[in-house]
Amino acid sequence: MCGIVGILGKAAVADQLVDALRRLEYRGYDSAGVATLENGRIERRRAAGKLRNLELCLSQAPLSGAIGIGHTRWATHGRPNEINAHPHATEKLAVVHNGIIENFHELRSELEAAGVRFETETDTEIVARLVTEEMRHGRSPAEAVAAILPRLRGAYALAFLFAGEEDLLIGARCGPPLAIGLGEGENYLGSDALALAALTSRVIYLEDGDWAILSRRGFEIRDATGRAVKRPVTWTPKSGATSDRGNYRHFMEKEIHEQPEVVQRTLEHYADLTSSRVATLKDAPFDWRQLSRASIAACGTAYFAGMIAKYWFQRLAHLDVQVEFASEFRYRDAPLDPDALMMVISQSGETADTLASLRYAKSFGQPVLSVVNVPTSSIARESAIVLPACCASLPCRPGRASARHA
Ligand code: GLU
Repeated sequence: MCGIVGILGKAAVADQLVDALRRLEYRGYDSAGVATLENGRIERRRAAGKLRNLELCLSQAPLSGAIGIGHTRWATHGRPNEINAHPHATEKLAVVHNGIIENFHELRSELEAAGVRFETETDTEIVARLVTEEMRHGRSPAEAVAAILPRLRGAYALAFLFAGEEDLLIGARCGPPLAIGLGEGENYLGSDALALAALTSRVIYLEDGDWAILSRRGFEIRDATGRAVKRPVTWTPKSGATSDRGNYRHFMEKEIHEQPEVVQRTLEHYADLTSSRVATLKDAPFDWRQLSRASIAACGTAYFAGMIAKYWFQRLAHLDVQVEFASEFRYRDAPLDPDALMMVISQSGETADTLASLRYAKSFGQPVLSVVNVPTSSIARESAIVLPACCASLPCRPGRASARHA
């Protein structure tokens, strides 16, 4: 899971874009890039590897545009190199993308047959080319984006910057999260509130199918049918805890060293160690004693954590638990028992496959409990009950996501 940021600012935005991307480093990435408008023309700086490579690039060839987009990439299609790094650009626009365009092959073959040339191996470039073709046929940026979104299958958060349009950014969401940040005479797009934490604490999360047109003075959100819609403004604490590496060289090192403290704080919070009793989850829409069984869906390290949890659930609670690779789970078309519980684990709370497992379980009526580090994340917001890990500065309070969202 990687990151998106967009800024409609008052002065040069390149440094702010990189700063916002740094706040998303905790999600992991393999390359990064930014694009701004320089006298109306799209200019990009991109680099494989860490953000400091991008900063080096910017220090050698600075950008001065007051509007721009930035991206940290975790490659799904195409090698993690500079050519494949986002933003992808044509003479008309630049775009950054989180997610996967599953039908990019068909779309690419169609455009190639019509003579369109591609520069990268990514699925994302198809989005840039499709919008460009629409604009060549006389459509405005917003019309062009509206025309191509229904053609995309898969998962995406997208942010667009257009040549010659100094006061326009467009964002779209279907799957991975995207939020609008509200400033004073400035507006922003970001993957989450953390990305925008240094810029604003007022954010609006787009819902699936939404797309938004932003200027410095306002914004408009449309749903998948093109209807103008309103989404609630969420106030988020200006906390940099999760996004700050502290004195550690990288996030993995930080997380390893934080484990004893986090485990201790979490145990103290959820269990009364003197009576050896576990706190009851007051808002839980299920009764642990009535559960027929439970599943845990997660990816990577969180999957291993799930295997430990399975051992403890079986041994201490005699509850039958199965641990699932979230990346495989929904493709099995497994019938699920509504009397069973789905538990999902994700550090960022944005792991796309884990979020898809959550939604799959909900479609069978299963209650979902999530364990996440980011209480404003998509997984937290879509779970019936959330157990945030007790990091030093994050609220450690189980709760129903809807209450927190409001
Ligand atoms: N699928 C796109 C790529 O491989 C985006 C990956 C991402 O979410 O960073 O470039």
